[in-house]
Amino acid sequence: MSAAVAERITDLFNGDMPDDANWLELLLKNRLDQLPYPGRGGTLERWKALAAVAEFDLSLTKLYEGHTDALAIIDELAPGSAATSSGAWCVWAAESPKGRALIHGNGSDVELSGSKHWCSGAITGDHALLTAWAKDEDLPHLISIDLDQPGIAIDSDKWKAVGMASSMSVNVAFDGAKGSRLGKAGQYLSRPGFWQGGAGIAACWYGGAVGIATALRKGLLESSGDDQQGYKLASLGKIDLALEETGAILRHAARWIDDHPFFDASQVALTARLSAEKCAKSVIDEVGKAMGATPFCLNEKFAKAAADLPVFIRQSHAEKDFAALGERSLTREAPAWSL
Ligand SMILES: Cc1cc2nc3c(=O)[nH]c(=O)nc-3n(C[C@H](O)[C@H](O)[C@H](O)COP(=O)(O)OP(=O)(O)OC[C@H]3O[C@@H](n4cnc5c(N)ncnc54)[C@H](O)[C@@H]3O)c2cc1C
Repeated sequence: MSAAVAERITDLFNGDMPDDANWLELLLKNRLDQLPYPGRGGTLERWKALAAVAEFDLSLTKLYEGHTDALAIIDELAPGSAATSSGAWCVWAAESPKGRALIHGNGSDVELSGSKHWCSGAITGDHALLTAWAKDEDLPHLISIDLDQPGIAIDSDKWKAVGMASSMSVNVAFDGAKGSRLGKAGQYLSRPGFWQGGAGIAACWYGGAVGIATALRKGLLESSGDDQQGYKLASLGKIDLALEETGAILRHAARWIDDHPFFDASQVALTARLSAEKCAKSVIDEVGKAMGATPFCLNEKFAKAAADLPVFIRQSHAEKDFAALGERSLTREAPAWSL
């Protein structure tokens, strides 16, 4: 079903639409947000859809990935209820000392105070899932809120991004905003979908890298033999290798998740994320070396993607994630390094 979704997404982007189309709205209106949930046999198809959007626009992907992740989370924690949801969802789970939401009330309905940082889609979204803390508890709760209500203040003044600018990942403050609990305390982090969704981000980075790599490949295909100098082909070769490696890791991770839907997917997710991060960096570097400054300065779509991708991959936790992967390498039962 959703191999077709990725193709239909690409068809939509290649169709006859104004440049300033509201793409997220169009994706939702065409039900191109209805992806297989992770771990149900269609994980790769889900990731192909994420990558297809990423190849087109990375800020849009941030919103689309958040929305589709929210639907998967809702289905995991309250089975059946995602099907009846409408509008665009956001997921705000970043935690920082200055961006911390608190919940008040013991029942399923709660009020919120405090704030959240990094709230992609706050301005355009309809609902959000956010992590928030009850006093004296050390596990976060997941709270579902409607964004169109008093008690929510969006502060976009601090958002100065150039890369990922239109993801508008702004600060949001709460003063008595109403929400309801989804799942139990800590379940947002402990559910299998946490790492399965985290691996989906790698598919977004991969799609972004494919978009940038395609500019070089297309340029070389369109140029005469004389312009296909060896150094450009060498860059394309390195890019090909990086994308093939990460593609293989992503396909393996998707298969593993489908075969082990209730297992801890942190190892395959960390591997996919770190590989996609490395691949994205290498693609940006090699395309730059082969093509020079020209596409960065004269090709608007390329320039935007090349500004967006380095910012988007900073959602990787870098050395922290390498250490987490090393930890898992030490504790894995089967020897992992055999063919
Ligand atoms: C464009 C964009 C959109 C975003 N949208 C959303 C969203 O919609 N929802 C959401 O929940 N979040 C969102 N985020 C936030 C993101 O998920 C991260 O929470 C945020 O970028 C902070 O990341 P961090 O914790 O790695 O960085 P920081 O905590 O600021 O750390 C800075 C750097 O130090 C490294 N570091 C930290 N601790 C260690 C350690 N022990 N060892 C080694 N290195 C360490 C980190 O890996 C990082 O590279 C968004 C981020 C970006 C860039």
